[in-house]
Amino acid sequence: MKDKTFSVSITEQEIRQQVQRVAAEITRDYEGRQPVFLAVLNGSFVFAADLLREVDLPCEISFVKLASYEGTATTGNVREIIGMNTDITGRPVIIVEDIVDTGLTMAHMLDTLKGHNPQSIDICTLLLKPSKLQVKLDIKYCCKEIPDDFVVGYGLDYDGFGRNTKDIYTLI
Ligand code: 5GP
Repeated sequence: MKDKTFSVSITEQEIRQQVQRVAAEITRDYEGRQPVFLAVLNGSFVFAADLLREVDLPCEISFVKLASYEGTATTGNVREIIGMNTDITGRPVIIVEDIVDTGLTMAHMLDTLKGHNPQSIDICTLLLKPSKLQVKLDIKYCCKEIPDDFVVGYGLDYDGFGRNTKDIYTLI
């Protein structure tokens, strides 16, 4: 793809099995509740679509985006959550992310969301690179832990491309 070579590392079949497993865990854990899923665009759009169809609960979904803007010299580069059109006050929230790498994005998102006073927040990620984590994060739902490699496909991109593949590929 473009100037790089990738090879299949997680097949469509394995992804489907893991998505079904995680969806069953959420369905079991949230029985009797009506969670709000917050899917973080762009990378999570495929995962969120598959996950939600396997979750057997009354639920809502909002697609949010993290917008970077230049802050003042003291605040540095701040990332703001945009597009959240569901009131999460007093609601159980499940963040749906494509991949957690250093965890800094997720830690910042948690901090911001706590300001909206949700009942609870859980993290659900398709992929996690445990060796790269720089912050302590309680990741309740994870489809697969992977090594510190660059991956594309199934929603994840390389320079905008590759989001539309059924398998996940690793840069070789
Ligand atoms: P973190 O703040 O956890 O370091 O970064 C998470 C974000 O970095 C993900 O949402 C994703 O956009 C990007 N990212 C991290 N690792 C990869 C990777 O291997 N492939 C792709 N396509 N994006 C990645």
